[in-house]
Amino acid sequence: MRERQLRARDMLRGDLEGEELERYVEEKVVMTSFEKVLGWARSNSIFPLTFGLACCAIEAPISIVTARYDLARFGAEALRASPRQADMIILSGRVSIKMAPVVRRLYDQMLEPKWVMAMGACSSSAGMFSNYAVVQGADKFMPVDIYVPGCPPRPEAVLYGFTKLQRKIQGNPDPGWRQRYNALGSEEWARGGPRSEPGPGDREAYERVRELTGA
Ligand code: SF4
Repeated sequence: MRERQLRARDMLRGDLEGEELERYVEEKVVMTSFEKVLGWARSNSIFPLTFGLACCAIEAPISIVTARYDLARFGAEALRASPRQADMIILSGRVSIKMAPVVRRLYDQMLEPKWVMAMGACSSSAGMFSNYAVVQGADKFMPVDIYVPGCPPRPEAVLYGFTKLQRKIQGNPDPGWRQRYNALGSEEWARGGPRSEPGPGDREAYERVRELTGA
């Protein structure tokens, strides 16, 4: 520590020269791009929605925020009770046909850029519930960014999925693929809110999804 302080002092005084100065700068200066810093900041400041659907909800978000698993280590401890303050939703449990429009509405109300984790067999593919009452996979009606298998997945698996999602966010993925779900932008954007204008055909497409899902 003392040595580092002395070298810093020498550098500030202009006493470091040549190779020594070059080595000092290489050790201290980190070059990166703005996009990478933005992705890093985004991935480490996720605000998950406080939301649960069925038995999986006991594992997440309930378990992963406890001291044992501690989601706060990954910068996502601020669970929000309002979708308008959240940018991630964990679908923890089976999605019934009746619940699907509600889930979709919550998703639409969330802030961009937003992320979805399908947690457990039920939300990913309906699991054992191959019947008329349960949606056979949440990606039938909304975009899903990451799937975590299990029934229920262990909290460690959810955390692993979360770190995978973080890596995905750091890569600044193009969310264009969500267009086929008409799921770009927030609800206000799609409805033509005061601050932004939807593109041609966006509002009609959005209304069509509303009709289909009954929201
Ligand atoms: S995956 Fe298993 S634990 Fe999770 S909601 Fe379905 S039945 Fe329950």
